[in-house]
Amino acid sequence: MTDLAARLTPEAWAVWEVLFARYAAPGMCNPDDPQPCTSGTPTQAQIDNDHRNLAQRQHDALLAVGRIALMSGEAGQLNGLPVSVIIRTTLQDLESRAGIGVTGGGTRLPIRDVIKMAGHANHYLAVFDRSTGSALDLFRTRRVASPAQRIMLIARDGGCTKPCCTVGAYGSQAHHATTDWAQGGNTNVNDLGLACPPDNRAVKEGGWSTAMNGRHEVEWTPPPHLDTGQTRVNTHHRPELLLRPPDDDEPAGETADPAQPGGPAPPGDQVA
Ligand SMILES: [Zn+2]
Repeated sequence: MTDLAARLTPEAWAVWEVLFARYAAPGMCNPDDPQPCTSGTPTQAQIDNDHRNLAQRQHDALLAVGRIALMSGEAGQLNGLPVSVIIRTTLQDLESRAGIGVTGGGTRLPIRDVIKMAGHANHYLAVFDRSTGSALDLFRTRRVASPAQRIMLIARDGGCTKPCCTVGAYGSQAHHATTDWAQGGNTNVNDLGLACPPDNRAVKEGGWSTAMNGRHEVEWTPPPHLDTGQTRVNTHHRPELLLRPPDDDEPAGETADPAQPGGPAPPGDQVA
């Protein structure tokens, strides 16, 4: 716990008293609620079940107003990086669910808080291996790929990864190749692949599905009625793949892709 005592000027208190009247009202911003009310009016049940005292409600209001400021996009930059909470931890701490994470400011957080914070936008989680110290992954708790991630994907995939698609990298979006965001996928380079917008949209329940193989290539599996045994990997943008000796796990044969989309589409950063 960090103690906070404050002496405010009348002007500063004039600002905070109205913010507290709003965000520290009974039923607002209550961490005990499954879906805390942070905008609009709390339900009567949220008000009736709020057992916090005034100090606790003001504490939770400080957290809520701080989050709103971080998410507004108006916080600008700090030493050249967007103002955002950055937490580092180790894979071993995450896996044990009993370790700690440390913020860029040196605050130590229990892993359960780190995991809870991952539900909010504009936080970064850097994961290291405890024994070797090597950087394992940078998770970003929102569904948009960062510029650095896009550069890595452009370098690795070269263009849309759907077999036979010729749309280049600048016409492609970052696509969650393993678990879709809605199912809890991470914005993590090893889970992402490039896909043009029509192919990105073709991945859905009952349609195409994608997975990442052991060589970090996106494999596309058609729905049964379109499956003619065609290749699962696109070599158009990376012809060097054709020079590689065949593996057992790569299906042989190649036929035209019946679902090939049309021309290039505008680039976007949305991750589907
Ligand atoms: Zn495509």
